[in-house]
Amino acid sequence: MKGRPLTASAQHAPTPFQVSGNELLVGDVPISRLAARVGRTPFYAYDRGLLSQRVSELRAALPAEVRLHYAMKANPMPAVVQHMVRLVDGIDVASGGELKIALDAGADPMEISFAGPGKSADELVQAVAAGILINVESPRELPILSDASARLGVPARVAVRVNPDFEIKGSRMRMGGGSKQFGVDVEQVASVLEEIGARRLEFEGFHLFAGSQNLDARSICEAQRRAVELAIRLAESAPNTVKSLNLGGGFGIPYFPGEQPLDLQAAGEGMQAVVAEARRAFPEAKLIIELGRYLVGEAGVYVCRIVDRKVSRGRVFLVTDGGLHHQLAASGNFGQVIRRNYPVAIGTRMGAPDLETVSVVGPLCTPLDLLAEQMPLPAAGPGDLVVVFQSGAYGYSASPRDFLSHPHPPEVLV
Ligand SMILES: *Cc1c(COP(=O)(O)O)cnc(C)c1O
Repeated sequence: MKGRPLTASAQHAPTPFQVSGNELLVGDVPISRLAARVGRTPFYAYDRGLLSQRVSELRAALPAEVRLHYAMKANPMPAVVQHMVRLVDGIDVASGGELKIALDAGADPMEISFAGPGKSADELVQAVAAGILINVESPRELPILSDASARLGVPARVAVRVNPDFEIKGSRMRMGGGSKQFGVDVEQVASVLEEIGARRLEFEGFHLFAGSQNLDARSICEAQRRAVELAIRLAESAPNTVKSLNLGGGFGIPYFPGEQPLDLQAAGEGMQAVVAEARRAFPEAKLIIELGRYLVGEAGVYVCRIVDRKVSRGRVFLVTDGGLHHQLAASGNFGQVIRRNYPVAIGTRMGAPDLETVSVVGPLCTPLDLLAEQMPLPAAGPGDLVVVFQSGAYGYSASPRDFLSHPHPPEVLV
């Protein structure tokens, strides 16, 4: 179906979805027809064309030798992971459960890496057996890995996840610098490298991930530049050459009023110098960035249906069948300090000009169950479909779906 671009609201950055007539299109299917196909609301829908488009945009903008990994905790739906496996160069997993999904999806174990604090002994043994790269985050992991390697007769492939001695500017979620549960502090890396050598683990390189959800190309590139600098310093204590250098990622997407999309061209240009420096220092290394939300976040919508329209002392409430239990982040309860609205639209009234200021709420008995607060939207009522954009990452899997015992929403890849 030939759609027209969705014009940006006054408040939010544009989304990549298109519209036709009054309807939002997901994978070229009008939203009300898609709802009929799914059979019920609420549901999550991911647009495979947009997933592919995003990877193409990255490939075009980034230096050619940068390898792109998908951090699948952003969206572990098996069909999405399977789609991404064909597009990207590797998958980053954060648990034994994610490892299973990645392997089932056909990911090459050589190109899977596993990071996370508190990996269980069972997960570490699984990782050795699978032949994937383990990002070591604690000296505690090392004897477990060498035992598993000896027992199974397969090498344990390791990289050291470093907790850098710098912080990234502008990241909403910092995952490095200062005191952190993630990675090995720079000061302890040399001794961990020594033990890796002594235990004859297969050392492959370093992983440095400073933070998440960054919209500023300059600070992303600055963090990567410092990561390469740090890796050069740390490599002096390494038992063998660096074959893999994971520079993290942290590319963000605009969620809230006033936020501008990341300037991907600028990020790509800024990374040229970083890559050149890394290439000089580590001629044999694969240079990797790992992205989650930037790859999938904008390609997904959460869709629910209006069941009631209530006016309470002059304020309009659109009461829907979906809410916080499925889309925790859009309700403002997943790490936000001050609640701000996600981009929301009435998917069945896309052209309609009449705006009224409404609150979109869910069916849960808590005032926290809010999808949009005092937002200008076209006049809508029972039967209309509400669409929450930017829902492709940290949506379904990051929400408390059993809270109030409603059915879990289906997920579809269109
Ligand atoms: C969560 C995570 C990511 C992905 O972060 P996004 O903000 O979704 O891009 C990447 N690397 C590691 C180690 C992570 O834990």
